[in-house]
Amino acid sequence: MAKECIFCRIAAGEVPSDIVYQDEDFLAFRDISPQAPIHILIIPKTHIASSAELTEEQHELVGRLIITAKNLAEKEGVAKEGYRLVINCGSEGGQVVPHLHLHLLGGRRLADKLG
Ligand code: 5GP
Ligand code: ZN
Repeated sequence: MAKECIFCRIAAGEVPSDIVYQDEDFLAFRDISPQAPIHILIIPKTHIASSAELTEEQHELVGRLIITAKNLAEKEGVAKEGYRLVINCGSEGGQVVPHLHLHLLGGRRLADKLG
């Protein structure tokens, strides 16, 4: 755990969040500033700063991260209409919190453009 990392602190239960799912490896909680009716962040409990830090050995973790998002989309009722999964990386990628997270956005028609 990175002491100064807000998402590590959420994963440790030190900072409250609206948790929607967790297992041994992942935590999913609602974004504090939702950009869509459904806006959930899915994080690995272990501290990984960004997708830039991923190693080949973590391919299974990354696969399960996306499967977790897919399962949550079904649970939250947006799987049929569709949703968006986003990982921002680095400053130009718009990453603000330096702990790898997958955004699950749904419940409205999202903009066509990627920005
Ligand atoms: P990024 O821009 O790094 O991809 O996304 C970070 C996201 O984390 C933002 O959507 C922001 O609203 C959310 N966020 C930042 N701090 C907190 C927090 O303390 N609690 C929760 N639930 N979300 C947070
Ligand atoms: Zn962290």
